[in-house]
Amino acid sequence: DPRIHGIKTKIRVVPDFPKKGIMFQDITTVLLDPKAFKDTIDLFVERYRDKNISVVAGIEARGFLFGPPIALAIGAKFVPLRKPKKLPGETIFEEYELEYGNDRLEMHIGAVEAGDRALVVDDLIATGGTLCAAINLLGKFPKLYENQLSFEFQT
Ligand code: 5GP
Repeated sequence: DPRIHGIKTKIRVVPDFPKKGIMFQDITTVLLDPKAFKDTIDLFVERYRDKNISVVAGIEARGFLFGPPIALAIGAKFVPLRKPKKLPGETIFEEYELEYGNDRLEMHIGAVEAGDRALVVDDLIATGGTLCAAINLLGKFPKLYENQLSFEFQT
């Protein structure tokens, strides 16, 4: 799809950020270009609009930029998966390892229900640790296991 090449050219690569040796992929430059931003959303909408997705789960923080427009376009609810102590209601959490120490994602109890089918959205996969934590968090709802969890990765 030619749109993918166009989007790629808008991602700014910043060497040695946030520390030496990291080639940081900066997606804020995609957001500055309305066509590239729209193409990004459209690609996901085309891919997932007929897949019975009932919930789009966005990972803080950049999953909050791409998740909501996808959710609106495919007619799904949006659920934020947040860093600790940001959500006011009762939450469940999943812990995951970072290079140094741990972090966790939290989700409001009741935001997803039995029978929901989720699309998890973030801007980038490096080790996959954050995405796995998000998947585990969604699967923590025992009721969801009734329907067997299955996963599909697409970038
Ligand atoms: P992982 O858990 O897969 O190792 O790291 C992915 C998470 O770290 C994502 O939430 C992503 O936003 C963030 N991240 C790691 N490296 C980069 C990067 O180069 N660019 C951006 N935009 N995010 C990154």
